[in-house]
Amino acid sequence: MARSGTQTAVPQSRPGFASPDVAGALDRLGVTSRGLSADDAALRLTRDGPNELPVAHGPSMLRRFAAQFTDLFAVMLLVAAVITLVAYELGRPRDTGNLQLAVAILAVVLLNAVIGFGQEFAAERTAEALRAMVPHRTVVVRDGERVDVPAVSLVVGDILVLEAGDAVPADARVIEAHGLTVDNSALTGESEPARRTPDAVAADGPPLDAGNLVWMGTTVSAGTARAVVVATAKDTEFGRIYQLTAQTRTEHSPLQRQVAGMARRVAAGAFCLGALVFAIRLPLGGPLVTSFVFALGVMVALVPEGLPATMSVALAVGVRRMAHRKALIKKLVAVETLGSTTVICTDKTGTLTKAEMTVQAVWVPDRTHAVSGAGYEPVGDVDDPEPLRGTLQAAVLCCDARLLPPDSAGGWRVLGDTTEGALLVAAAKAGVDLTAEQRAAPRIEEFPFDADRKLMTTVHRTGETTIAYVKGAPQELLARCTRIVQGDEGVVAISDAMRARVAAVNDDMSRDALRVLGVAYRPVSADAGQADAEQDLILLGLIGMLDPPRPEVSAAIATCERAGIRIVMVTGDSALTAEAIARKVGLITGASPRALTGADLDHLDEQQLRTLLADPSPVLFARVKPEHKMRVVSAFKDLGEIVAVTGDGANDAPALRRADIGVAMGASGTDVAREAAVMVLLDDSFASIAAAVERGRSVYQNIRTFLIYVFTSNVGELVPILVATFAGFPLVPLSAVQVLAIDLGSDVLPALALGTLQPEPGTMDKPPRSPRESLFSAAVVRRILFLGSIQAAGVTAVFFWHIHSAGLPFSSFTAANPVYREALTMAQAGIVISQIFVGLTLRSDRLSIVTLGLRSSGRMLAAQGLSLVAICAISYVPVLQRLFHTAPLSGADWAILVACGILLLLADEIRKAALRSRQRRHADSPVEQTLPASRRSRLQAR
Ligand code: ATP
Repeated sequence: MARSGTQTAVPQSRPGFASPDVAGALDRLGVTSRGLSADDAALRLTRDGPNELPVAHGPSMLRRFAAQFTDLFAVMLLVAAVITLVAYELGRPRDTGNLQLAVAILAVVLLNAVIGFGQEFAAERTAEALRAMVPHRTVVVRDGERVDVPAVSLVVGDILVLEAGDAVPADARVIEAHGLTVDNSALTGESEPARRTPDAVAADGPPLDAGNLVWMGTTVSAGTARAVVVATAKDTEFGRIYQLTAQTRTEHSPLQRQVAGMARRVAAGAFCLGALVFAIRLPLGGPLVTSFVFALGVMVALVPEGLPATMSVALAVGVRRMAHRKALIKKLVAVETLGSTTVICTDKTGTLTKAEMTVQAVWVPDRTHAVSGAGYEPVGDVDDPEPLRGTLQAAVLCCDARLLPPDSAGGWRVLGDTTEGALLVAAAKAGVDLTAEQRAAPRIEEFPFDADRKLMTTVHRTGETTIAYVKGAPQELLARCTRIVQGDEGVVAISDAMRARVAAVNDDMSRDALRVLGVAYRPVSADAGQADAEQDLILLGLIGMLDPPRPEVSAAIATCERAGIRIVMVTGDSALTAEAIARKVGLITGASPRALTGADLDHLDEQQLRTLLADPSPVLFARVKPEHKMRVVSAFKDLGEIVAVTGDGANDAPALRRADIGVAMGASGTDVAREAAVMVLLDDSFASIAAAVERGRSVYQNIRTFLIYVFTSNVGELVPILVATFAGFPLVPLSAVQVLAIDLGSDVLPALALGTLQPEPGTMDKPPRSPRESLFSAAVVRRILFLGSIQAAGVTAVFFWHIHSAGLPFSSFTAANPVYREALTMAQAGIVISQIFVGLTLRSDRLSIVTLGLRSSGRMLAAQGLSLVAICAISYVPVLQRLFHTAPLSGADWAILVACGILLLLADEIRKAALRSRQRRHADSPVEQTLPASRRSRLQAR
């Protein structure tokens, strides 16, 4: 979103919602504080249309198509076509071969542009479709009830329920607020959170500064609020600016830039080599145009024309596959970085666990009462519910969540925080009637939960008295309690012994992997502020709830450990609960890990924290605040690790941005976290992160593979031309049109098939790739040279063997010579057939083709089948023969070409066998052997 000054952003269309009081504003909009009725909302939706901004229009199709002709390859080819045309025009007699060549080059440029445009378009459509998969829902009040609705169905008059981390889905007038601040930076550029209250403001101030209006596109930084929608969609301020400034920008990932840069360098090299070949051939005499044709052949042989487009497709397919595994990638860069992830900092609730809380135990002095039942269905028994009632009543009055009965979407559900959902269910099991409680003690103030305080407080009026109910993390709560409700004795001062007892109960529950919440209260004055309401409290009891681990997580953790990835739990919950869950999911198996709390972290400086993290033995962080998470991420990054971190709250945004891979929760996370992250987990599960890492690794591996594939054929094309140049053979062994037919024809589909291969077995048995590793590592270059030189030797041999078989001196050969035409055909077909074998062997670096079988080669075989049909057509179909200067080959010719391909395959099999035996000799475990020393000792420490 472009920055826009207050001046340009003055809304024109909504005068007068800020100046009347709340009742006046609601009146103008034809709504009461119970919200619209469902029917009214439906009517307004039909009248005003959905709350959706029109799709932004980027550059026109025509311009984007035209842009395809401006890349370096296209320009080079266009220049070549023009020179060839000029040669045709000036030549006497005119050589129709030149005209054909020029037309063929132009056709190739056009074809390349069409393919490039098509692929870019498809990649963009994929991105759009994926974006739409993240549901954008919002909570509103309709018919007096809170319901969640898709943000697109909001209408003017709807009452929004906003909380920290929410994106404001429409322009709205605040009608109730508790500690509400908003981040208006998207509209004003001002990053300081701005306070918002329901108070009326003077009509003449700048609307963006009005203290009671919130704007679409901005976010809630803290607090909770209700606000009535005054404008939706393009009528909002955001909509107006969006239409003025929105443009689709295509962002390229570092890998794409690396490949594009490399392609440019290769093109420059090709140009120089072409010029050299031209200079060498010139003194040999003969028409200028023949030397030019040689030079052109060299240039197009070297340049990997189809590469950038293939690369985009490989990345786009990777992104789509990750989406199928519930990991949505927002930026292409994440695909590559994921593959080199070395540390995953994960939170606990919802990621390692199901976030399906069930209260199992309630402690009030001095006994623990068991609660039975599972899930959110309010069916189950409470052991002796009477003494617990006060604690549960206080807990549910201090809740914002709602329990939703079964509907078409499934069984009992929670709208809002699942921790609170569990409290509602437990209270219902104990016979507490929430509606009656709320009627008897209406809420007059609220201090929402935040991960820093780890507390939530609500203030209620009961008759003449006002009471604050507080619930939160036991340690935090206990520190603020001075008294306790102790059975028949009533409220008494809390003794040290009792304090120790409460802490012990909390520890016992935590060791059983329960998430524990303390409940307290305090009579206050009606105008009490937060500090007042949260001090000198009277403790009621502790509530322990089970949040079972996700079943799929254990296997994912084991996979990550095999892959040399360190997993560190960073949770807001207590250390004991965290350790208990870590054991359940297999994150910790041996002795207790080093457990640090947020308070411990406060005592460490950056250097000490780095030293602590550099130690590979298991560590977990508990009771942390978002700022601590940020410090842990930074310290890991300083140690050179590639860090993925999960986050869901609004305060997690800085850590998500700081990490290499910020991972937000799609189902439970806040809009702010999703905005800050580069990856969104649609199912919130840790297993999806592991799956995405595996995909990330395989995308990178596939890109490497197709680079080798493409450059192997380039070596195969280049060498025979160079040999002919130096041997003084007067004609090209492979014409520019033939080379283009290979690079942009027969090579493209198999390269694409290689770019989309499924992960190779053992992808997660290797250590992470170093992010500094260049795509063109020594290993890649060695493999290109190995395969390329065998292919080149074969093609050069078959070409000159065929020429030799005519028994004529080189100087007698002309372009019309049938033997020359056959040799040309042999050279082209030789490369195409050899590439079929290259494609088969490249599916693995080290596994034999016998082990691989035809694994994931359906697309590959289909692509190669098409290549074979194409090369046969070039050899036998008269019109193609004329274009390519080819001739029909005999059965024996084909057999020789296939034999060359088989030889290449065998040579690579021998190399693979040698590599495997070397690996066997060197390693009992491939991961440990190839790991850097620090990580090896970490694995041993586990
Ligand atoms: P993770 O960071 O792994 O997801 P978490 O969800 O337990 O862990 P927080 O949401 O920061 O972390 O919660 C920390 C503690 O705050 C909880 O253990 C609980 O005691 C308390 N707590 C959580 N939700 C609420 C709530 N709605 N009201 C009051 N206290 C809460």
